[in-house]
Amino acid sequence: MSNLSGKTALVTGASRGIGRASALALAKAGAQVLVHYSSSEPEADAVVAEIRKAGGKADKVGADLRQAEGPHALARQVRAIIGGRLDILVANAGISKSASIEDTRVEDFDNLFAVNVRAPFFLVQQLLPALCKGSNIIFTSSLAARASVGTLSAYAATKGAVDTLVKHFAAALGPRGIRVNAVAPGVVETDMSNFTKTEAGRDTALGMQALKRLAQPDDIGAVVAFLASDEARWITGDTVNVDGGSKL
Ligand code: NAD
Repeated sequence: MSNLSGKTALVTGASRGIGRASALALAKAGAQVLVHYSSSEPEADAVVAEIRKAGGKADKVGADLRQAEGPHALARQVRAIIGGRLDILVANAGISKSASIEDTRVEDFDNLFAVNVRAPFFLVQQLLPALCKGSNIIFTSSLAARASVGTLSAYAATKGAVDTLVKHFAAALGPRGIRVNAVAPGVVETDMSNFTKTEAGRDTALGMQALKRLAQPDDIGAVVAFLASDEARWITGDTVNVDGGSKL
């Protein structure tokens, strides 16, 4: 396992799903983890307790990232806890909305871009003073950004924007020694992909994949911990597909 002891990490949307698994994987590798939540404080408390019980260091931080000021408020809390240095920023929080082109409402479109694109952009901006040589940022993209899956065009466009930010941020921040990457999961069994609870949904997911099982959040968390580690020191500007060979 990679050694992240002495490192500080923030994981957004860490109360459940992929964010929770990423927080646990980073903590297991030794990082002090800030567990961000929006509305589910008890679940964030449970993640913090789980990390502490295993001997790790963790605190919760709350902010609604749909609000324009959310990233700014979150960055202030983070800097108050970790002080001057944030080693790992995992921008995981996201929302999805399945809708045809005809049925997509302006409000839903705006919410998707607010949480999935605007929030990570301004979170990086607001935390830049704490990101130092050797720090790294991991965004959360999606299979939907590179392939047509379901009726997800507005959501998919937010993840296409994330992939674009990865390249531009990596180019801009590389000279400061900061790496920027993304993971692009396929279908993962979380609250977001609740269609996998039906047999038809499972069949659809498995039909797209080379590997014939449903992904679990820790399949993604393991790759997040790898990208955050020194083993990945020469990887930047990349979106890593973590999807069991989906839509090959
Ligand atoms: P999830 O719904 O279980 O978790 C989403 C997280 O985002 C939650 O912790 C939630 O609190 C947080 N969040 C949502 N709205 C927020 C807001 N307004 N402010 C702050 N936090 C907010 O889903 P998940 O599958 O764990 O998703 C995590 C990331 O992975 C998302 O970016 C998602 O787009 C991406 N992803 C998921 C899948 C999948 O199949 N589950 C596939 C590809 C990409």
